[in-house]
Amino acid sequence: MPRLSEVIAALDNLWPAERAESWDAVGTVVGDPGQEVSRVLFAVDPVQEIADEAVELGADLLVTHHPLYLRGTTTVAASTFKGRVVHTLIKHDIALHVAHTNADTADPGVSDALAGALDLDVVRPLVPDPSDPEGRRGLGRVCELRHPLTVRELAARAAERLPATAQGIRVAGDPEAIVRTVAVSGGSGDSLFASVRAAGVDAFLTADLRHHPAAEFVADRDHSPLALLDAAHWATEWPWCELGAAQLDEISDRNGWDLRVHVSKTVTDPWTAHAASAPTSSAMGAPN
Ligand SMILES: [Zn+2]
Repeated sequence: MPRLSEVIAALDNLWPAERAESWDAVGTVVGDPGQEVSRVLFAVDPVQEIADEAVELGADLLVTHHPLYLRGTTTVAASTFKGRVVHTLIKHDIALHVAHTNADTADPGVSDALAGALDLDVVRPLVPDPSDPEGRRGLGRVCELRHPLTVRELAARAAERLPATAQGIRVAGDPEAIVRTVAVSGGSGDSLFASVRAAGVDAFLTADLRHHPAAEFVADRDHSPLALLDAAHWATEWPWCELGAAQLDEISDRNGWDLRVHVSKTVTDPWTAHAASAPTSSAMGAPN
């Protein structure tokens, strides 16, 4: 059985901490480097539900995409919800390791996993990492569809292939427009509009799109029309858990570690319900 320090070294090799954004907080949050690891759980969010799931599973290590603490704190008291997560993990000898923006820009990374879930062929990063001479790392991915789809069909595919959430997929733009190329970015993507426009793609699939940037982007008549597909933030990042788990599984086999690696299927998207509006005459029909 490997020590935590050995497993963390392997994870750091996949997602080096120095490639995280300067504002980010990645790496090991909880854990004794000398403890043995046999069972690992991957999840998007380090929330209490997931900590409880790790306990029930008998996991020794929880790997999450989102940080537990992004800013400094002066308490891990169990009376705070984050402190309770820390207490739960430490009481059960479960380590917590975070790979966030260092996993976003990795090759393969969060957006490769998202593209893979939708059967899209990745062509290149949307925003290449200038420090990568091979141009394979970076934020978001520019992808091609094997067969062109309408925006409506692509949204249906995303709704079917991504894990189910209350939000589903929102579409901006002409639902009948043909999509041959699409940019994808797991997580919040509305800071990437300029790069998406420059990439010359037919559609952009991401999460957390706000009214004004989205409305201005779709209404821009100086450029060719471009559709937006907005999924739940959690759903766009969840495929990375399966990718990371598969990568760790392979490392485990190679090293003869015999790790058991699991992916949490618990939906931790904060939005829990969706009430459809009254039927409209819009081209998409009533959302459901
Ligand atoms: Zn995220």
